[in-house]
Amino acid sequence: MAISEFGLIQRYFTSAELINPVNRLGVGDDCALMSIPDGYELALTVDTMVEGVHFFAGANPEQLGKKLLAVNLSDLAAMGATPVSVTLALTIPEINEDWLKSFSTGFLNLVKSYSLDLIGGDTTKGPLTLSVQAMGIVPKGQALRRSTAKTGDLIFVTGQGLGDSGLGLKIEQGYQSENADAVLQKFHTPEPRVNEGIKIREYASSCIDLSDGIASDLSHILKQSSVGAVLDWDKVPLSKAVSDYIDKTDDWLLPLSAGEDYELCFTVAPENVSSINIECTQVGVIESRAGLRFQRLGVTKELGVKGFEHFS
Ligand code: ADP
Ligand code: MG
Repeated sequence: MAISEFGLIQRYFTSAELINPVNRLGVGDDCALMSIPDGYELALTVDTMVEGVHFFAGANPEQLGKKLLAVNLSDLAAMGATPVSVTLALTIPEINEDWLKSFSTGFLNLVKSYSLDLIGGDTTKGPLTLSVQAMGIVPKGQALRRSTAKTGDLIFVTGQGLGDSGLGLKIEQGYQSENADAVLQKFHTPEPRVNEGIKIREYASSCIDLSDGIASDLSHILKQSSVGAVLDWDKVPLSKAVSDYIDKTDDWLLPLSAGEDYELCFTVAPENVSSINIECTQVGVIESRAGLRFQRLGVTKELGVKGFEHFS
């Protein structure tokens, strides 16, 4: 016989003890309780994934559990916050214990690896919809913002290659690639750049995480900071799989426009570049003239947020 809602919460989503001292009370009461240390601010984010919209029906539940949390931790990373707790709102069509076991394994493994506590949530019946709220702490006034880039700052990205996740999606949709494994892993289970976000908050002037592609995400920094930028396409890091894909298809916009890489894109003033203590690549410069331009093979063009298909 299927377990009850309370049995389900007890079995899959309640841990014996809280790890993080910030968390005073976890699952089991009407609310969780947190106590933010003096001199810190709480950073909060929530993301929802809907079956058929954000993931394929029948997707691997363990990967789904990990990705759901990873995309939220990526938002905390982009603010330079240290994640401390999460809540989980689960809407499921039925109680399927195999699915729950696998989903909670993927989710809770990542909870554990970042020393977080799952401190509450909600469980309801309906079309499969997964929401996570992630909470982090950051020293007062030190959170990385989108609105604080300055003319002359250099633009960096983390990671080995942009567009990997986008290529992973194309492979899931039938594109044949010889180097499929790494890009599929990036698509299914991206690694949030939490430690990088914490390190760069000392010296970065602005930051965003790459959920929609750098053309679109960097444009948020530019608009909110009232500046422009030029991106150097030839400097954008590319994996072998994405390079091969571009050679074959000439779809060189993929690394700029494809989503879900969950790398960090951040800016650093020239005098602070020597402080950089993470692996990253410089891909452009902030300029006073509004708009996003890019340089490729020696030619500079305007890359409108709406209009980049124009160049494809
Ligand atoms: P209420 O009806 O007061 O909202 P619930 O029955 O929804 O209480 O939840 C009981 C407890 O279990 C609460 O502490 C809630 O935060 C927690 N909880 C419910 N669903 C989940 C879940 N999917 N993951 C973690 N905690 C959960
Ligand atoms: Mg409830």
